[in-house]
Amino acid sequence: MNKFLIDRLPDHQEETLLSEIRRVADLIDSEFITISEFDQHARISASGLGQRFGSWSKALQKAGLSHRFCRPTKYFSDEELIEKLQQIATQTCKPYVTKTEFSEHTGIDTTSFLRRFGSWRAALEKAGLQQTPGGKRYTYEECMENLLKVWTHLGRPPEYLEMKALPSTVGPKAYITRWKSWNKALHAFVDKVNSDEPDDPLVSESVKPDTIQAISQKTKSRNSDVDKREIKLGLRYRVLKRDNFKCVLCGRSPAMTPGLELHVDHIRPFSKGGKTVEENLRSTCFACNIGKGASI
Ligand SMILES: [Zn+2]
Repeated sequence: MNKFLIDRLPDHQEETLLSEIRRVADLIDSEFITISEFDQHARISASGLGQRFGSWSKALQKAGLSHRFCRPTKYFSDEELIEKLQQIATQTCKPYVTKTEFSEHTGIDTTSFLRRFGSWRAALEKAGLQQTPGGKRYTYEECMENLLKVWTHLGRPPEYLEMKALPSTVGPKAYITRWKSWNKALHAFVDKVNSDEPDDPLVSESVKPDTIQAISQKTKSRNSDVDKREIKLGLRYRVLKRDNFKCVLCGRSPAMTPGLELHVDHIRPFSKGGKTVEENLRSTCFACNIGKGASI
């Protein structure tokens, strides 16, 4: 439904999005604008706006409406807050609720949860929910995959605070725990990209299309990465960057189109002998990718 509504906006320029927020804000009687109220009236989803501007609260802030974001916890009883936690868990189909999700769904400030329940953990426990994976130690691969996702979403290296908002699912603290600083985490990502260089030195040279065949033949006898369906993170990054973090078929980018996800796929399908080399890979969005049908 949201997808249909999105199409009714004349464009996705920042000013258009901001005036849409203001238009909807005028329609809503209540002092605070929750995501669900917003979505009932708007031609673009609040979560899409959250992605575009970093978070729902930032979107409101940018529209000059930050005073309509958070209702202080004091307006609600303990029971109401616990009930809201459970509702969100049901809506999001997750066994836990993060503070960000809570305030974005309810428009309720979470800072005084600490005073009320002792901690966010305690509130979740009281609601019969699991703990957020925030305290979890993410694996190296999870950290790198998440960073690639956010980098692709923005089309540039993310800032520390941007790791707190969707599409990031691993918070910035996890990076600090592992790498000590955000800058070092970014360096680790670049090292990872470089270490995923193709293992055949011939392939890493700038290859002309007519030489791919030869290289493919050459590497066939070895069980090298070009013969594996899996596309290593470094190679995916290089393809996305080469394609300017845009879908090569429709030209849309996650940076300009809220909710859009880019994937790297094989041009000549792997199942039909396509190699996992940069020249046979491209960035596509989900819609264009499935439009490809059986050729995946
Ligand atoms: Zn596309």
